[in-house]
Amino acid sequence: MSGGRSESVMFERIALIGIGLIGSSISHACRRASLAGSIVGSARTPATVETAMRLGLIDEGFVTAAEAAVDADLIILCTPVGLCGPIAKEISRSLKPGAILTDVGSVKAAIVRDVAPHVPKDVHFVAGHPIAGTEQSGPESGFAELFDGRWCILTPEPDADGRAVEKLRAFWEALGSKVEIMAPEHHDLVLAITSHVPHLIAYNIVNTAAHLERVTDSEVIKFSAGGFRDFTRIAASDPTMWRDVFLNNKEAVLDMLGRFTEDLTELQRAIRFGDGDTLFRLFSDARSIRRGVVQAGQDTAAPDFGRASGRVPVAPQAASKKV
Ligand code: NAP
Repeated sequence: MSGGRSESVMFERIALIGIGLIGSSISHACRRASLAGSIVGSARTPATVETAMRLGLIDEGFVTAAEAAVDADLIILCTPVGLCGPIAKEISRSLKPGAILTDVGSVKAAIVRDVAPHVPKDVHFVAGHPIAGTEQSGPESGFAELFDGRWCILTPEPDADGRAVEKLRAFWEALGSKVEIMAPEHHDLVLAITSHVPHLIAYNIVNTAAHLERVTDSEVIKFSAGGFRDFTRIAASDPTMWRDVFLNNKEAVLDMLGRFTEDLTELQRAIRFGDGDTLFRLFSDARSIRRGVVQAGQDTAAPDFGRASGRVPVAPQAASKKV
């Protein structure tokens, strides 16, 4: 549905600040579950706002975040992490009393630190992070199923309004997610090892391969199925987004990188000294983690990392455009 009301409308007006992969997927999933009376949005460039209108992702588009936030009951910051603080400052005076302000940023402590000071007392700020994504960017990359069965972590401040937290939990559940609540610092530690360091390794190994002198570029691409290909997929992720993640989760990433380096040294020693038992033990341990991921429903056991089953873009529904 779009632009109208229904029994299940959870928020009369939702404002998406930033309409890329995550913003557009939220819109698709909102439409699917008829959660919003209307969805409005803003982006950095007019071209993105126009595309979002054309795709029916938003009912009204605005040039500035401050205009988009006016009269919204739920405002979701869907921009790169480093912009959340400045945008919170910009929209501060547009936020209506009782509104819920949240975000989807991949780092939480820095966002809470940067956003909270700009939130008026009568507005409820509850930071969040859907643990779901792809290497694609932009308004055309979103799809309604992105959050299905995936976790969304909320990191409310200890004095956050309980009803606002529960409403946001219900919203993410209606988008298809499972919701967990934790402290922002703990989120950052967990995500450093499950997401941030793996992306860093992918960026690094792809660049290492690109700079090899004894292997040609065409050989790297031709024989990429031997494991390298999956790193190239991760390393195709948006550079702005990932620059901001590492600038804003420095401590936890450096902590996890230190541990990673120690473990890598152990593997290096085992290879150097022909210690097959150690290699076998470490590889067996790692393999059992993969089984756990599949058993927890966070991936399928299908070859190719189950990607074919999880990436089905949904045709956008038509929206009644007001602008
Ligand atoms: P994206 O596809 O690159 O989209 C970013 C959006 O932010 C674009 O619409 C961009 O507008 C807009 N934007 C940039 N600067 C802006 C500004 N000053 N004011 C208003 N809008 C602005 O990024 P994404 O993948 O959706 O990521 C968005 C957030 O979600 C990030 O914080 C990221 O950490 C988090 N996240 C990402 C993933 C993932 O896998 N991608 C998963 C979970 C969470 P233009 O198009 O006009 O430039």
